[in-house]
Amino acid sequence: MFNVDKIRADFPILNREVHGKKLVYFDNGATSQTPQVVIDAIVDYYSNYNANIHRGVHTLSQEATDKYEEARLKIQNHFNAKHSYEVILTAGTTNSINIVASGFSSILKEGDEIIVSALEHHSNIVPWQMLCEKTGAVLKVIPMSEDGSLRMDVYHELLNSKTKLVFCNHVSNALGIINPIEEIIHAAHKFEAYVLIDGAQAVPHIKPDVQELDVDFYVASAHKMCGPTGVGVLYGKEELLKMLPPYQGGGEMIETVTFEKTTYAGLPHKFEAGTPNICGGIAFGAAIDYMNSIGFDAIAKQENELLAYGTQELEKIEGLKIYGTTNKASVISFNLEEIHPYDVGSILDKLGVAVRTGHHCAQPIMNFYSIPGTVRASFAFYNTKEEIDILVAAVKKAKMMLS
Ligand SMILES: *Cc1c(COP(=O)(O)O)cnc(C)c1O
Repeated sequence: MFNVDKIRADFPILNREVHGKKLVYFDNGATSQTPQVVIDAIVDYYSNYNANIHRGVHTLSQEATDKYEEARLKIQNHFNAKHSYEVILTAGTTNSINIVASGFSSILKEGDEIIVSALEHHSNIVPWQMLCEKTGAVLKVIPMSEDGSLRMDVYHELLNSKTKLVFCNHVSNALGIINPIEEIIHAAHKFEAYVLIDGAQAVPHIKPDVQELDVDFYVASAHKMCGPTGVGVLYGKEELLKMLPPYQGGGEMIETVTFEKTTYAGLPHKFEAGTPNICGGIAFGAAIDYMNSIGFDAIAKQENELLAYGTQELEKIEGLKIYGTTNKASVISFNLEEIHPYDVGSILDKLGVAVRTGHHCAQPIMNFYSIPGTVRASFAFYNTKEEIDILVAAVKKAKMMLS
């Protein structure tokens, strides 16, 4: 049985106060909080077996290597990758995307087309623009509708034999919209285009199955699913990871090195140059175990209740507009009429409520609505309806003070 009080007890930070008020943490879309088991995994690593991996014959190095590879298997199982070597441990979503974008710069040709969605995070726009500058490929954009959904009719028109790559997020971080990635992947494959899905905002809510999706690349960050910052995953199909050149040169990614010629190591090491975030990778594995111990069905149920209740209560406030109104994860992006989101966020902080304000690294969406930004409340399974009541009261207070 899902018991939110018991779950909250797993998160030490939820006990703290901010400006003398009980913390209400609604900035889960930016980073999630960390349960004690993940904190313990980090402490255990540095207290008991801190060592470099893959190199040493000594005991600590072997222990660290075993735990790190165990984490890779946990990630493989979680995403249902066919092989463990299709799981590349990276520094996070941004890093994963750049590895793929940089790899394709030696493959794409002038006049090739790549498609991104209008709902992307800057980290899934800028690397592709840089790729286009280098290769002469052309960037096309799937536009969005007023309700925040993608114009899939336009997407199908954009696809053609020149399309080589398609990039889309699974869940939009700015609005919380869940995109129809099955349809996006299936349609792209008809034109032999590859698809990269940015799952950073999806993984806290959804357990993706990369084989069932038949996705070519799927990327995510640990810190949005109860893990630490600075570590993430790049899943890629074996043949595509073999096709892409390495991203960085250095230790760990080579087979043999001479000054005449170096040969690269096999997967996954080809993409893992240098000493990785060993502790972070191990803690990522612990976070995956923790989330699965709660279960993604239970997580979705709790979050959907919070989303429905929060939407209902916030909509009662006159002059409050919610952006993104269809098929959503537990994210509510909103503004109060005539009031700058930053001012609302500052007052909410004084009242102990943590939300994100601004353009959420998605300026094209803000331009679409002609707004400078939004206030974004993003809920996790450890949040409660009582906390939403505190948010709603705080928004009402902010409205009174600012209008
Ligand atoms: C958070 C986020 C990113 C960036 O993740 P990093 O961990 O900062 O690299 C990219 N895309 C989406 C949709 C996100 O929510």
